[in-house]
Amino acid sequence: MATTFEPSSKNISVQHTDCFIDGQWLPAQSGKTFATINPATEEVIAQVAEGDAADIDLAAQAARRAFDTGPWRTMDARDRGRLLYQLADRIESEIDDLAALETLDNGKPISESRTGDLPFVIDVLRYYAGYADKIHGSTIPIRGRNFCYTRREPVGVAGQIIPWNFPMLMTAWKWGPALAAGCTIVMKPAEQTPLTCLRMAQLAHEVGFPPGVINVVPGFGPTAGAAVVKHPSIDKVAFTGEHITAQTITRDSAATLKRLTFELGGKSPNVVFADADLDAAARGAYVGLYLNQGQCCCAGSRLFVEESIHDRFVEKLRELTENRRVGDPFALDTEQGPQVDQKQFDKIMSYIDQGKAAGATCVTGGERVGDCGYFIQPTIFDNVTDDMPIATDEIFGPVLSVLTFSDAQQMIERANNTFYGLAAAVWTRDISRAHDFAARVRAGTVWVNCYDMFDAAAPFGGFKMSGYGRELGEEGLKAYTESKTVTIAL
Ligand code: ADP
Repeated sequence: MATTFEPSSKNISVQHTDCFIDGQWLPAQSGKTFATINPATEEVIAQVAEGDAADIDLAAQAARRAFDTGPWRTMDARDRGRLLYQLADRIESEIDDLAALETLDNGKPISESRTGDLPFVIDVLRYYAGYADKIHGSTIPIRGRNFCYTRREPVGVAGQIIPWNFPMLMTAWKWGPALAAGCTIVMKPAEQTPLTCLRMAQLAHEVGFPPGVINVVPGFGPTAGAAVVKHPSIDKVAFTGEHITAQTITRDSAATLKRLTFELGGKSPNVVFADADLDAAARGAYVGLYLNQGQCCCAGSRLFVEESIHDRFVEKLRELTENRRVGDPFALDTEQGPQVDQKQFDKIMSYIDQGKAAGATCVTGGERVGDCGYFIQPTIFDNVTDDMPIATDEIFGPVLSVLTFSDAQQMIERANNTFYGLAAAVWTRDISRAHDFAARVRAGTVWVNCYDMFDAAAPFGGFKMSGYGRELGEEGLKAYTESKTVTIAL
């Protein structure tokens, strides 16, 4: 980290607020704009172009042209990879400014955007840059005097719709594999946090991505987002967000039968056995739930604690939680900033009220912090039963539900008793127990004695209603390709 790093919300200049289409900055054709808000102060940061179907149409046409006739597909794969490396380098050289812009728009603590999100953004882009020239098919020994091989080709124009919890990181997770595979992009960032994605589009332009390869249209879901999903020139939609939105997207994409990949919500079980390293498990439960203000799809929001250690463990967690520093996201020692907007704030507070009304014990937290900005105390509910809304619904905030178990078999059934299946974790020193849990829990990612251990190379995605397909790793790349079989009679 640069030693001169002195983040401040005061000296951030917002450079890009229009749509980025075909290498140009354009206002929305309707002339409309919407405000993006600083969640720490509730002040307007900037007015941003409110793209809708007309702008998506321009972007989709540009992306189609860039895919069908532009230099992108015919470029040597290694040169495509090189552009991705250059984008990563450029982001690295502006890491302090980008982290500050992310914190301003999203509210996440600057220490997290600067040392968590941004380094991962760079890592993901470099990981996929290295893949660009390693995408190939296979030769297949079919019957007869024939030569058969497959080609892995880019899927075409990729529509990408992302949420607001990790704006730059979600952009990188989507752009990296799409660009390495040779796709072109129409992206719609979340309406709450459009600024860093727009800035990344400018950086991509400056390092030399050809016009039309990356297009970004800010706007709202039912207008701009739905237009991406319905557009006939877009071949695939990659979406991260709520499962209810994914259901709408599935319906809206039916007419054009788009390829779909979804990374959706979760209510992930985090299980602590009595034989675990309890300090590490408490730290893992704390990070696994409160990271990013609890606004993580994989948050370990159902904490299953073995009965014999319950009181001790909850006490450890209470201590950690009460020491959590909530406040100005630009202060270097802040651990928790505001929730992203009023809607999320209201939703979380209503779940806290429901938890109290349902008879769960509020061990700590449960209130708003201050009277300006969307700050909420980190909150632990104990004596939660499996059927309470705080145990079944994705709250997407700093609210932990503690459930107790004594029978390991029953616990796995309870852990699986949800329509979500994104992530799960287990804390134990018993290797058989860890493997048994990993095999039996219905989730796309299982962490053993750790939590939130992400890597660009490790696939991530959901079982059940937590998603289709995987992001990151080779599987994430393949989701942007089509396989073509070629047979030659000899
Ligand atoms: P959240 O409640 O966390 O904002 P959403 O699933 O509503 O989650 O939003 C995630 C992304 O999906 C955002 O970019 C949003 O604008 C977009 N979106 C919302 N509704 C639709 C829709 N009907 N079609 C396409 N995209 C949508």
